[in-house]
Amino acid sequence: MIIILSSQATDKNVDELIANLKERGYGIHLSRGVEKTIIGAIGAPEEDKATIAQQIESISFVERVVPILKPYKVVGREFHPERSVIKVRDVKIGGDEIVVMAGPCCVESEEQCRQTARLVRAAGATILRGGAFKPSTSPYSFHGLGEDGLKILDAARAETGMPIITEVLDLRDLDMVAKYADILQIGTRNMSNFSLLKEIGNMRKPVMLKRGMSSTIEEWLQAAEYIATRGNYEIILCERGIRTFETLTRNTFDINAIPAVRQLSHLPIIADPSHGTGRWGLVSPVAKAAIAAGADGLMIEVHPEPEKALKDGAQSLKPDTFAQFMQELSALVAAVGRKAGWSPDGGSA
Ligand code: PEP
Ligand code: MN
Repeated sequence: MIIILSSQATDKNVDELIANLKERGYGIHLSRGVEKTIIGAIGAPEEDKATIAQQIESISFVERVVPILKPYKVVGREFHPERSVIKVRDVKIGGDEIVVMAGPCCVESEEQCRQTARLVRAAGATILRGGAFKPSTSPYSFHGLGEDGLKILDAARAETGMPIITEVLDLRDLDMVAKYADILQIGTRNMSNFSLLKEIGNMRKPVMLKRGMSSTIEEWLQAAEYIATRGNYEIILCERGIRTFETLTRNTFDINAIPAVRQLSHLPIIADPSHGTGRWGLVSPVAKAAIAAGADGLMIEVHPEPEKALKDGAQSLKPDTFAQFMQELSALVAAVGRKAGWSPDGGSA
């Protein structure tokens, strides 16, 4: 860290602070200017650096402390320059190929889920999404079918061969959801549920961590660090839109986050334009923008009858719109030097 002292700092103050830092294990680089004295403290001990920085900042003659290193390490690119590829059954996430996760917001019935699975598979999707445990702002709305929903996803996987991604909402359901899911999804509302992050960190199972709707990119990467520091490195990030003053759309899809995360982290990054916009008519253009910006894949909500959907009908694509979108996406994927895991005329490759 770099410690900037106030002009009131005396020689005695400087000496005392240097002694304090050396005692903590830091190497010292002192720079005395005409106006200001700056201390560079290098080689931090394995203590919480943020706490030390705050302690130093509390000293009356210290003006400011500037950290040099990022508050995450294992998920950061500085220490791991090559990009991670997460393998889920036969699908690779984070490599050359763009992955598309598609399916209904919620598993509503066996018929609805299996029909959607067949249709998105035929259009080229490689991973089936569907919520069995649903978070909801309203206590009156549908909260999912629970384990029955997981069993339906299991049947859809058996029929189509697609791996499944589904959300785990609560620590108490973790083992059960993990038994069925190929990828555990941590939703926006749980990005800061640190007990859940720690438990998933203890597992050896792919996890997709959605960005908290009011979280900064740095907080999101620190949440990923919670999982990675416990040994689970199979982490996929998902930008799903953040809250802003705009009310026309459900959220504001943060396109900046895609290239920013690619620069800062080696983890794959997926874009969710369904929750990112909340409007089906905006899903295709925002999805394409995300791929152009460097996303490794997409998560898209599809429903055979959005007008009857129990949740998120307004942002769900109809299967034929999704199939058309997948054809358009093929050309874009080639233009940005990536590969499509599906054939350009629709259908899985
Ligand atoms: C979802 O993907 O179904 C979902 C609830 O997303 P989010 O956590 O991003 O709102
Ligand atoms: Mn949804």
